[in-house]
Amino acid sequence: MDKRIRIKDLLDSTNFGQQVKVMGWVKTFRNNQFIAINDGSTIKNIQAVLDFNSFDESLLKRLNTGAAVSIEGEIVESLGKGQRIEIKVDKIEILGDSDAEKFPLQPKKHSLEFLREIAHLRFRTNTFNAVFKVRHALAYAIHKFFNDKGFLYLHTPIITASDAEGAGEMFRVSTLDPDNIPRDQDGSVNYKEDFFGKATNLTVSGQLEGELAALAFGDIYTFGPTFRAENSNTTRHLAEFWMIEPEMAFYDLNDNMDLAEELLNYVISYALENCSDELDFLNNRLLEEEKQKPQSDRSELDLISKLKFCLDNNFERITYTEAIHILRNSKPNQKKQFNYIIDSWGADLQSEHERFLVEKHFKKPVILTDYPAAIKSFYMRLNEPDAEGRTTVRAMDILFPGIGEIIGGSQREERLEKLEKRMEEMHIPKEEMSWYLDTRRFGSAPHAGFGLGFERLVLFVTGMSNIRDVIPFPRTPKNAEF
Ligand code: ATP
Ligand code: MN
Repeated sequence: MDKRIRIKDLLDSTNFGQQVKVMGWVKTFRNNQFIAINDGSTIKNIQAVLDFNSFDESLLKRLNTGAAVSIEGEIVESLGKGQRIEIKVDKIEILGDSDAEKFPLQPKKHSLEFLREIAHLRFRTNTFNAVFKVRHALAYAIHKFFNDKGFLYLHTPIITASDAEGAGEMFRVSTLDPDNIPRDQDGSVNYKEDFFGKATNLTVSGQLEGELAALAFGDIYTFGPTFRAENSNTTRHLAEFWMIEPEMAFYDLNDNMDLAEELLNYVISYALENCSDELDFLNNRLLEEEKQKPQSDRSELDLISKLKFCLDNNFERITYTEAIHILRNSKPNQKKQFNYIIDSWGADLQSEHERFLVEKHFKKPVILTDYPAAIKSFYMRLNEPDAEGRTTVRAMDILFPGIGEIIGGSQREERLEKLEKRMEEMHIPKEEMSWYLDTRRFGSAPHAGFGLGFERLVLFVTGMSNIRDVIPFPRTPKNAEF
């Protein structure tokens, strides 16, 4: 087995006449002569050509789509269109049969919905080969970006007892017997008897722990799974997703925005440079899809132009207050086409508003800053009230075309008194958070950070339209298959 050559390396080879061994899965077998084999190392197949007189008919019958094979032969120049080299086959071994009648993946286009139902097999399709190659490259690029900048990769806990991010959206972690739950006299659950002696959940964010480390190491980032039990069945929400959360001491919001923009540009360029086969494939796939749509619904830019456009243009930075002004005067607001009409300062922005700003008004990524304090988290740094007495916080959301919010972040409140006051106002139990407040008691410093939703990034770069198609096994309400 050790002498097998990966198809990716083979396709780059010019060693005509060399004897090679390839292992992979049959994509197609045409004219009793041409086998297209893929081993997953590249989206491209190698063509193996055989003389059917030299092989048993019973063997040839087993060269079905999906079968695993080992093939030995000579590298020769290809006469056919579409490939430079092929293998002239001497020896074929079937490693694993695939019943042509039963194998669900036929050499034709399947719908993404169908493929989601057979997510265990969809890795074998071109589309998912491309998507998960890009996903891998983006993950690597993120680590490289931070490592090159001297950031420390911090592993924050998956099981947490901190309840700070907004209860109700969390998955409970418990070993209590659901049929025999210990209760206090007043009927409430007695978590003292639970595994950790208190109520615990799957993490919704590593930020609070990230802050603790940032105030010692300076610059840290996390990259790990995150869980939210939000019952939103959208194309942009998962119950289990991966998040990248950098946290930096001595950063203000402007530094934070600069870093976020640099990170996004870096990883997008990395994908363009290192995933050109995959992105070409995904680009063509989208162009085909677009052809089905009426002219007016087609996008102005194809996938690759869209990624390059993003690199060539600075993100638009505006405040929430400016955004409200634009939205109020916008056509869809005045013609009452928005589902939620923006009539006053303080309203939370819905995705229809975010999309309007990004896709219609600015036509590029937008960073919205300084949101009303009332609609944002307790740990965000308070601004001085404005001329009209309105209070905002140093928050930022980065909005991307077709995606909406890709990043949410803020400068953190480093002033103990102000932080405690906000916590009291928002009914956050200070006693349980004293570990967090200690950072503000001992050597507090300005700091900032953000959370980048990894799947939203993969969505953007691959041009896929449903977040369930950019994570291997999506978890969404009523779905935890595989
Ligand atoms: P949204 O308003 O889109 O639900 P959010 O405001 O809840 O997002 P944050 O709490 O700021 O999001 O999380 C940081 C980032 O994590 C978001 O910008 C987004 O990219 C990503 N994210 C948040 N929730 C989900 C989810 N359920 N599935 C996938 N990614 C998510
Ligand atoms: Mn959310």
